[in-house]
Amino acid sequence: MTPYAWALLGLVLGAGLGALVVWLVVRRAAHKVRGQIVNRHHLGEILAPLRAAVVVVSEADFVLAASDFARTVGMARGSSLFPAEVGNLLTDARREQRILECDLRLAGPAGEPVQLAVRAVPLSNGAAVVIGEDRSEDLRFSETRRDFVANISHELKTPIGAIGLLAEAADSAAEDPAAVHRFLGKLTKETRRLNELVSQIIALSRLQAADPMLAAHEVHLAQVLEAAVARCTEIAEAGGISISVQAQPGLQVVGDAEELETAVTNLVQNAVAYSEPGARVAVTSSIADDQMIEIRVSDNGIGISADDQLRIFERFFRVDAGRSRASGGTGLGLSIVKHVAVAHGGEVVVWSRVGHGSTFTLRLPRSREGISE
Ligand code: ADP
Repeated sequence: MTPYAWALLGLVLGAGLGALVVWLVVRRAAHKVRGQIVNRHHLGEILAPLRAAVVVVSEADFVLAASDFARTVGMARGSSLFPAEVGNLLTDARREQRILECDLRLAGPAGEPVQLAVRAVPLSNGAAVVIGEDRSEDLRFSETRRDFVANISHELKTPIGAIGLLAEAADSAAEDPAAVHRFLGKLTKETRRLNELVSQIIALSRLQAADPMLAAHEVHLAQVLEAAVARCTEIAEAGGISISVQAQPGLQVVGDAEELETAVTNLVQNAVAYSEPGARVAVTSSIADDQMIEIRVSDNGIGISADDQLRIFERFFRVDAGRSRASGGTGLGLSIVKHVAVAHGGEVVVWSRVGHGSTFTLRLPRSREGISE
């Protein structure tokens, strides 16, 4: 063979070998990719941590893999798909060759209702995926909002109805100045109540809409306490109740001064409203530990039973609705306090004994600025 022929043979052999190597690499890669897609074990590993209920089924609706959540809510049991609605939805989706959806209510691990938005997705190879997105939180939110609106409507109706009746009564008693004076006094009281209720509703919805920490700044607690107590002094004096303030100097938190003042005012107002004449209310602020400061509002008033303590932070909950209304209460004060506490990264807790009094403690993260220990 001539050198030229040798060179040509070498080139052909080299190219052939190269092509073989490329083919082997591609085949191996393709195998790997195919293996990753079809391997049930790997699929199970991928699906397991998903927050949604995801189930992959074969052509014969045999469960190939499922997320842990799908198994927790019982959408996949062993190798079967549950409940029947999901199976029917999948059958329809396959027949129509398109994604179909339905809402489904299942039970969580503790029997709590789990609301799922389910989609059945047929795949080209005959298999299918069922995806159930957890909508329980949305459902709870809309239920809470519905209850809230129903409560607000009810609460507004009472003073508005009373104002209408009192106006009519004053009008028909025009000949009797003493009666007119009496009716107008009550009218003023109901108007104030309506005003307070509307202000509290606006305060609560503002709190829910905006994060106070977005425009947070250093707040001097001593000033907050002084301002809150100043707002309650008149009503306390009228009820023969004394208020003392003891603020540890230099304490600051990061937050919204106005909201913090509203929260402390609500606590002091309650301490005054739910105490008898001659009672004492003490308002203090101090360092709780390395992380937190505490604002305490204590009274030796009527106290709250253990059962009621579990509910007093709910919107519109009152132990004694008559007493609350008589003192201008709206049933929203403590839920506002709780919102403010949580929005500032803190909490509010209560200690109370019926007939002995109550202490509400607002715990807030402390700011290092201006602290002199
Ligand atoms: P309200 O406007 O009725 O005071 P809140 O949300 O502030 O509404 O309080 C809810 C209920 O908790 C009150 O109606 C009252 O029954 C009870 N409560 C709150 N603070 C005190 C307190 N310091 N002492 C006794 N009961 C209290």
